[in-house]
Amino acid sequence: MARYTGSKCKLCRREGVKLFLKGARCHTAKCPIEGRTKRPGMHGWRRGRPSDYAVRLREKQKCKRYYGVLEAQFLRYFEQAQRGRGNTGENLLSLLERRLDNVLTVCGFAISRAQARQMITHRHVQVNGRTVDVPNYLVDEGDVVRPELVDATLDVVRARREQTGHPAPGWLEVNDADLTIRVLRLPVRDDVTVEVEEGLVVELCSR
Ligand code: SF4
Repeated sequence: MARYTGSKCKLCRREGVKLFLKGARCHTAKCPIEGRTKRPGMHGWRRGRPSDYAVRLREKQKCKRYYGVLEAQFLRYFEQAQRGRGNTGENLLSLLERRLDNVLTVCGFAISRAQARQMITHRHVQVNGRTVDVPNYLVDEGDVVRPELVDATLDVVRARREQTGHPAPGWLEVNDADLTIRVLRLPVRDDVTVEVEEGLVVELCSR
């Protein structure tokens, strides 16, 4: 399973926005995006009017990097979104939002998507009572997600949830008593918090 292992802050600096890839550090003054506008690399200071292609490419890269998805997998999501009913861009964001690693992150069970991925691949997460070890598992309406029923895991998750203080998004319901996440419905565009113009992503990927 391929994944990006380089500098995470560099990705944010390249996109010029906070992608919240490093958990708690992203909310402190140590975040290098604060006060720095230079892009990474020797020519990062160069400015110019970006081409239409560059604008669309940046939107796609931002989306990929926010959800921690590589190119080939992103294009598979795009094809799946095209096959679905309705707006392709909204379908694409909905699919990305339904990833199991994203669900754990937005509910505060992990402080970053990378940490959520580790929890899942180390088999600490169950969906509907069965262990799931693939971070790209897509949750569905009615699914119940929970950490494995081991005291150490539950304590860690409880502490993280207190640390992040995340309110669950409208399509998910968190029960703090037994640490479960219930999927109330599939996510729609308004549930997605990443600032991305999905129409531009669709224009680029449709070429
Ligand atoms: Fe991005 Fe977080 Fe690094 Fe800031 S600290 S640049 S938000 S990964």
